[in-house]
Amino acid sequence: PIAYVNGAFVPLSEAKVSVLDRGFLFADGIYEVAAVLDGKLVDSAPHLARLERSVGEIGLALPESLARIEELQKELVARNHLDQGMVYLQVTRGADTSRDFPFPKGDVKPTLVMFVTAKNIVDAPSAKSGIAVITVPDIRWERRDIKSVALLAQVLAKQAAAAAGAAEAWMVEDGHVTEGGSSSAFILTKDDVIVTRPNSNAILPGCTRKAVVKLAEERQLKVEERLFTVDEALAAKEAFITSASSFVQPVVSIDGKTIGDGKPGPVATRLREIYVDFARTTAV
Ligand code: PLP
Repeated sequence: PIAYVNGAFVPLSEAKVSVLDRGFLFADGIYEVAAVLDGKLVDSAPHLARLERSVGEIGLALPESLARIEELQKELVARNHLDQGMVYLQVTRGADTSRDFPFPKGDVKPTLVMFVTAKNIVDAPSAKSGIAVITVPDIRWERRDIKSVALLAQVLAKQAAAAAGAAEAWMVEDGHVTEGGSSSAFILTKDDVIVTRPNSNAILPGCTRKAVVKLAEERQLKVEERLFTVDEALAAKEAFITSASSFVQPVVSIDGKTIGDGKPGPVATRLREIYVDFARTTAV
């Protein structure tokens, strides 16, 4: 595998950053993950726009233009002969000798790294079987709209899920589901309304979430962006998650309690098919 590190394509095993890198020391950095399908970038523009917004919110300047970053992502995908999977990108405030909290003075260059992971997203067995989720308290900070590399709360949440045999953790604040550890959360109510939490500082604005909401509305499915409780989710007809690395995945149980008839629901299944088609036909 080939990675990209600060201007050079290098074997992944030789891709290195400094121990003084502020991403390593302070989690002072931003990341993005975009899917690759048929060797092309899925829904690329929203991911680049979110990257620009995230770095802007932490006062970090990208070392390359968004157009150049997309070119580099495409080159990385080609060099790796990647057909399906993900491109991971991380930019940090760079390596500085002082380990001082305020931004470094002088010409400390941001660190930009990218690598790819192969994954069969379209034919993932979990899309057919559905996934189990557990609920955990949302212990994260108040700027979850920034795609920061500070992911310890999600590491612990998703480890708790894995230990319970579940694929995702839904995080809960004030009785309401915020989102999954690395996905957006949706339910389908008894009245066939698709419900997902509105964007705010409480969640990451998911690119897949945004596309799925639009695709659903275009097909006259009713979507409400509002808060929902765990009890409402447990009583729902269907539940599902969305993310760049999994597209749409049906949820068949929450905290060990069956959702609907315990099988992937027709709406989640249909939205998944619609999203796969969108991803294929719009990838660049
Ligand atoms: N919410 C969180 C906390 C995430 O980490 C992610 C993706 O990793 C998402 C939502 C889904 O966002 P996207 O659809 O852009 O991948």
